[in-house]
Amino acid sequence: MLQQVELYSALGKAEQNNLFSQLEQIYAALPATSCEGCATCCKWGSPPAFFIEYLNLYRHVRDNMKDSWREILGKSTEYFYLELVDVNQKCPFLNDSNQCSVYSVRPFACRSYGLLSKQDFETGDRGLELLAKKFKDEYDLIIPQEIINYKLPWCGKVTSQTGTHLAKSTLAGLAAQIGALDYTFFPQELVDQEGTLLPFPVHLANTVLGSGARARKIKVMKQYVDQGSKELLQGFVEKAAAFQF
Ligand code: SF4
Ligand code: SF4
Repeated sequence: MLQQVELYSALGKAEQNNLFSQLEQIYAALPATSCEGCATCCKWGSPPAFFIEYLNLYRHVRDNMKDSWREILGKSTEYFYLELVDVNQKCPFLNDSNQCSVYSVRPFACRSYGLLSKQDFETGDRGLELLAKKFKDEYDLIIPQEIINYKLPWCGKVTSQTGTHLAKSTLAGLAAQIGALDYTFFPQELVDQEGTLLPFPVHLANTVLGSGARARKIKVMKQYVDQGSKELLQGFVEKAAAFQF
């Protein structure tokens, strides 16, 4: 994904083409909801977001959350490296009061959670069985079974303004409209294969840590799993925390 220089050019393009207003209009098609606010859905990990949603988050954090930059960058870096091996990783934007610190720019996945009936709800295959096998065979790295098997449960505590669940096709149609905004930045084929759909902290780590981050990921994960150590990770957290949005 894009590093900072390219990211600034993408932000300019998004503004020129009114993509942020279009994104807001798509979000506005969802009914307002309320729920018990237990934050279970935010502790499963960080949900995927389209690139345009990441740009929306990025400029919000840049313009409104300067005091939290270090914390966001540190937690996102840790999430990026350990999401597959540490069962305690949760969305880095969940604050200590169990509230979303980026609520106004949270992605479609968070906004639409709870809007499907139990019958229609499915989390899909995250492909972790295959990935775990590859890690074991190639790096002798064990992904915890709890992470491989975890499925976000359906939540029946969401009350929608309309009082009804949405049809699956309605949500899929709105998600496709957001995906189409990503065609401005990436080939349609990549977007349609969900190549631009990544958790916020992973988008952010790609911007902040550069292209070598993925290559270093295995070493960091292995040190954590084999030795219970975060020594390597700490170096990358320090580097990321110095980043200026
Ligand atoms: S949507 Fe459900 S799981 Fe998520 S915070 Fe609300 S009540 Fe909890
Ligand atoms: S972005 Fe906000 S609402 Fe979505 S998982 Fe993270 S803390 Fe929860």
